Amino acid sequence: MRALRLPDWRTDPELVEADEPKPGPGQVVVKIGAAGACHSDLHLMHDFEAGTVPWNPPFILGHENAGWVHAVGAGVTGLEIGQPVAVYGPWGCGTCARCRVGAENYCENPAAAPVPSGGGGLGLDGGMAKYELVPAARLVVPLPEGLDAVQAAPLTDAGLTPYHAIRRSWPKLPPGSTAVVIGVGGLGHVGVQILKATTATRVIAVDTRDEALRLAEECGADLTLRSGESTAEEIRSATGGRGADVVLDFVGADGTLRLGAAAARTLGDLTIVGIGGGSLPVGFFSVPYEVSIQTTYWGSRPELIEVLELGAQGLVRPKTTTFKLDDAMQAYHQMQDGTLEGRAVIVP
Ligand code: NAD
Ligand code: ZN
Repeated sequence: MRALRLPDWRTDPELVEADEPKPGPGQVVVKIGAAGACHSDLHLMHDFEAGTVPWNPPFILGHENAGWVHAVGAGVTGLEIGQPVAVYGPWGCGTCARCRVGAENYCENPAAAPVPSGGGGLGLDGGMAKYELVPAARLVVPLPEGLDAVQAAPLTDAGLTPYHAIRRSWPKLPPGSTAVVIGVGGLGHVGVQILKATTATRVIAVDTRDEALRLAEECGADLTLRSGESTAEEIRSATGGRGADVVLDFVGADGTLRLGAAAARTLGDLTIVGIGGGSLPVGFFSVPYEVSIQTTYWGSRPELIEVLELGAQGLVRPKTTTFKLDDAMQAYHQMQDGTLEGRAVIVP
């Protein structure tokens, strides 16, 4: 089968012929209907090196996948061939305290996982191919009625990651509150929709690109701001001087972290999702009192089921541009150049 494989760190992926996977006991082969292209893949191609994460290339890219059950191994029950499914992306050990409640993104025994702290497209072969081997049936989530693979695939990461980050901050987002979304790309534009669908908060979206701000408006943002030196001040004046109850940083560069800290309200949340390589010096007077600062990684399996439900109800609709597998690199180039709107989805 044709597949987009990352051969090494700091290298462009290449289209190769790979063997079609066969399911072993307990495993499932998914026929890929759609595989999302994530900015994390650009980090894999350009920024990561040996030692950044506990695994190495080569592997087939694509960690945002949906399609149909194609084959099941011995002992797999409850799945039918041809059934539409999404793949839950972070693959944990399945038995530690975190995995048992479905939070395999925070597996506490990564040495016993199929790959430590990774999954398909992140250390093991992913979905930018005709088929993907999923190592356990629990990692395959049936799609609710009314959701197709092209919509479901981005929901497994560009949806699930902001959903998790927003859900944990729900208590800080009552009516009258303000949330700031920094970076309205694949994750951020779905983040704006999730905020509007699950809370009554006011949403301020920030980006460096006008097209991204237009997309934020389409997604329901109440105010859009061009990212610059005065953005924190503009957020303060738009919130009566108080600042934002929750800031979600989908960039994670020095400048956006600084902006997030300057724009946060006392007792607020500053949640760092983007892997932009920045850092934030924290001192007694540098961040408003009792602002909680956290990074988040992906989301849990129960949260994936919830975000797929939001998709099936039409409350969250990723804006997608589809590409053939042979043109996948074009999708990444557009993402790099900032000419992509929403999420690029590869349809093999
Ligand atoms: P994307 O390229 O689709 O979107 C990034 C957006 O940020 C673009 O709209 C861009 O214009 C905007 N931007 C860039 N610099 C900016 C700045 N200084 N100020 C404001 N906006 C700026 O990327 P994506 O796929 O949405 O991923 C976003 C980030 O999240 C990446 O770093 C990715 O690796 C990371 N990520 C993290 C997780 C996690 O679990 N923590 C999961 C998936 C992706
Ligand atoms: Zn991702």
